[in-house]
Formats: sequence, C-alpha cells, structure tokens
Amino acid sequence: MPEITLNPPRSGTWYSATANSHSPRPRLAGSQKAEVCVVGAGLAGLTTALELSRHGKSVVLVEGETIASGASGRNGGFVTAGYAEDIPRVIQRVGLEQARALYVLSRAGVEYVREQIEVLDPKVQAGKGFLSVQRYADEDRCRRYVQLLQDEVGHDLEFWPAGKIREALRTERYFGAVYDPDAFHIHPLNYALALACEIERKGGVIFENSHGLSLEKSTPGFVLVTPGGRVFSRNVVLCTGAARGLSPALSRSILPISTHVVVSAPVEGGLEEIIQTSAAIADTRRAGDYYRMVDRSRLLWGGKISTRRSPPRRLVSVMKRTIAGVYPQLSSIDIEYAWSGLMAYCIHKMPLIGELEPGVWMATGFGGHGLNTTAMAGCLVTSAIVEGDTRWRRFTPYGPVWSGGPIGSKRGA
Ligand SMILES: Cc1cc2nc3c(=O)[nH]c(=O)nc-3n(C[C@H](O)[C@H](O)[C@H](O)COP(=O)(O)OP(=O)(O)OC[C@H]3O[C@@H](n4cnc5c(N)ncnc54)[C@H](O)[C@@H]3O)c2cc1C
Repeated sequence: MPEITLNPPRSGTWYSATANSHSPRPRLAGSQKAEVCVVGAGLAGLTTALELSRHGKSVVLVEGETIASGASGRNGGFVTAGYAEDIPRVIQRVGLEQARALYVLSRAGVEYVREQIEVLDPKVQAGKGFLSVQRYADEDRCRRYVQLLQDEVGHDLEFWPAGKIREALRTERYFGAVYDPDAFHIHPLNYALALACEIERKGGVIFENSHGLSLEKSTPGFVLVTPGGRVFSRNVVLCTGAARGLSPALSRSILPISTHVVVSAPVEGGLEEIIQTSAAIADTRRAGDYYRMVDRSRLLWGGKISTRRSPPRRLVSVMKRTIAGVYPQLSSIDIEYAWSGLMAYCIHKMPLIGELEPGVWMATGFGGHGLNTTAMAGCLVTSAIVEGDTRWRRFTPYGPVWSGGPIGSKRGA
C-alpha cells in the first residue's frame, strides 16, 4: 500500500529546491578533442576537471545526467577528515607511516574544499564542526580514539563526556562524543555548481545528459562514445561513482550502497533549543544516523544505509520514528523532502585512485566519505597527469578488487 501522509514530501531534494540558479549544459553532439576527457560530473569529476583546467589542460567533462545529480548533490554535506574506512584499520593494514600519509591527504581534501568555497561562493558553507556521538556508555573508547588520532596522525580532536554532549543535544541517547573543530558542512549542490562555473571560466567544456556508452583505444589515446557524439583524448579520468560499465575492473569492484535523507518543514519555535550546536552530528553505529540543522529551523536527517537499492517502504514514517527515538520532542515533526542516494563502496572501504592502464585514470569508490576525498583525488590525479606526481601510489594497497558478488555486498557496507 502506498504511504499516506498529510503533507506528502516534495519530489526532488531540499538541495535542488534551494539551488543557485544555473543553466542546463548542452548534450554532446559530434566530435570533440581534448587533452583530457573526464567522465562523471560529481565532485570527483568536477574537482579533477577544474584542477586540470587551472593547470592549462584542455578538458571535456561528460556527464550522463546533470551536474551532481548523483551522490554529490544529495548527501549530508559533512566535510570531515578521514575515509570511509576507520583509521585504526588503515594503520593495521598499511602500517603507521603510510596511514599517516593517507590521513594527511584526507585532511588536505578538507582544506581544499574550504579554500574553494571561500574563493567561489562563501554562502555554500552552512555550519562548523562535527560531533561523532556514541550511543552506549564507553567513555574510554572515545578517549582512546582521541588519543590515537592525536598521537598517530597528529589530529587534535576533543572528547566530550556525556554531560557536555547532553548540554549541546537535548537527548538522553548519547553517552559521549568526539568533536572535530576543523570539520564543516556545506550545501553540496551549490558547491558543485560553483565548481562547474569555474571550470567553464577556465576554458573547460561540460556536457550533460551525455552518458558514456563505451571507451575504446583510438588516436591520440582514447575515444569515449555517447549516444550523440565522441570525445577523443590522450587521457581519460573515470569519476563515475556508483555506476558500472566503462571499465570491467571498476565494475567488478564497486558496490552501490544506498542511504536516505529527509528534510523537515521549519520547526515551530526553531530547533536551537534542542540542537544547541552548529555542528553536524553522526552516531558511530555501522548504519547510524547523521543529521544537522539546515536553514536554522529545518532538520536534515539521514541514515538507513543498506545494500538494498530501493528505499525502505514508508521511508518518511521510518525516518520520523527514528528521529522521535532520539528526540521525543520532535515526534510530530513534519517532513517536507525525502530522497535516496547511491554511494560507491569498494570492499576495503578506501577510494580507488590511480592509473588503471596507461592514460586511463580512476577516481571513485569514496563511499560515505566523499566530500574531502573527492577533492583530494581530483588534485592527486591532476598532478599525476600534469607533472608525473606519484603520490597516488599511496593508494596502491587499495586497488580495484572483486567485490565478492552478493556476499561482498553484505560485507561491504
Ligand atoms: C545520501 C548521501 C549522504 C552522504 N553524506 C555524505 C557526507 O555527509 N559527507 C561525505 O563526505 N560524504 C557523504 N556521502 C558520500 C559522498 O556524497 C560521495 O562519496 C561523493 O559525492 C562521491 O562523488 P563522486 O563524484 O565519486 O560520485 P557521484 O556524485 O555519484 O558522481 C558520479 C557521476 O558520474 C555520472 N556517470 C556515471 N556513469 C557515467 C557514464 N557512463 N557517463 C557519463 N556520466 C556517468 C553520474 O551520473 C554521476 O553524476 C553521502 C552520499 C549519499 C548518497
């Protein structure tokens, strides 16, 4: 039975309803030549195309739908250091020195986004700080994590005991938290649109509604074929997110994982009494809740991460119940927007960054931690193409691996 609500949520996301005005880009028609063809205009493709353009390369960016219509324009908007994989597990796998270098790169991604926003559109930033909250009493675990990040990778985080977190968030659900003062949150779609304008200002060309059907060897390097045209280029960068198709190696490696978001109507009297921080919040459970205030009085709430592609039946009621479970004061909250998105995970939960074969680059698999890592990947791939920088090899231990089919899907989230 279809879900019945008094005010059914609007179609589209809150981000698209509040997007800066922008014009559609043309479909690719006929032949184009460029030094680099970037496939996919999510944040990975946009950052790569922008940095290549800034470094004087001719770039064609080909998007199958519209700019940031994938995960990049429909996410939580949290920009935080690190990766989808926990840093202690990264240390375990690649050793301390290598893990430290990877963590430093992830922090450079945060700083890159901060700088672009300052220069391109400061209104994109929506708030400061990130609280990782714990739903069970184990203060030692939080303290140990803070100590580890400080000692091993030099990141100063703050431990918040139960008393302090309950002053900031009016719920009994949390027993401790780790606060990251360097994190911030953004309107991701407006950020993507700002990057797109800057690419064009620098001479790059963007095509929308031009799905790449095949990638073949050709002169001078490769040809990308879309329904209406072709792009000939020496280098190709695949930034195709959760989509499969253009590269067998990526198709075997990527697990699409879904997650869902709702945005409330403005809450009468505001939310500031209940959420007394401008920080974004996420709980530490494997498929936990993530949320923040938007527009001062609306609540953006995400979660229900799953290998199932379709949203849970009755998504709005499920999310309302979850919100009320944490904040009983909000049990009658009205939901105005509800949407879903697909994240691209690799089984090792680290991004796929590097050269697949001479001239074909990949920047994908960012999982639920893509706002900083897509930026870092775009910069790494650019400096590899432009000046032969080999720092992307830090990701070699996390190359494309078979995702394990349906069993992999269950382990990968
Ligand atoms: C609901 C949700 C909440 C999230 N919250 C956060 C968060 O708060 N913080 C965080 O860091 N991360 C978050 N993430 C993850 C983050 O959004 C992603 O990791 C990141 O946006 C991935 O960017 P991308 O460019 O790799 O992929 P995408 O944004 O998915 O872009 C890939 C693009 O490639 C295009 N494409 C695919 N195949 C082709 C083809 N053959 N030809 C042409 N174009 C093609 C697609 O249409 C798409 O536009 C969230 C994700 C979701 C879905």
